[in-house]
Amino acid sequence: MKWEFACLTPGRGRGRRLVHAGLLAMMESDERLGWADHSEPLRLAVSLEPCVMCLGAAMALGVREVCFAVESPADGAAGVAATWQRGLGRRGHQAPAVYGGIRRTESREQFRRYTATAPDSPMREWARTIADLPDLPG
Ligand SMILES: [Zn+2]
Repeated sequence: MKWEFACLTPGRGRGRRLVHAGLLAMMESDERLGWADHSEPLRLAVSLEPCVMCLGAAMALGVREVCFAVESPADGAAGVAATWQRGLGRRGHQAPAVYGGIRRTESREQFRRYTATAPDSPMREWARTIADLPDLPG
């Protein structure tokens, strides 16, 4: 299984709205891997639950598993992906399996550090909502 990693790198700093960390990681992987058949399934690991755009891109790239750390209540799409029917979609792509909660505590700490140092902005306020998510039971 190939691993591709993304981190908390808001696209706003790049001056573009359609740039999310997971999407950037997949675009870089796509450039490296090209159109050749992959000998190993692709797995995307990100700190934040992907949005619908990023999950759609994962499906188009042929990612088999998406692993994320912390949920994104405002726009996370894991619940949407769970409703996609298994099997082949357009151009033979399959919906990826999505797993959340992996290294959740560490990821929330990243969001806390960001909110402690970033200047006031809507991005900072949004990140605070992620940092302040309650602990999960268990
Ligand atoms: Zn996204």
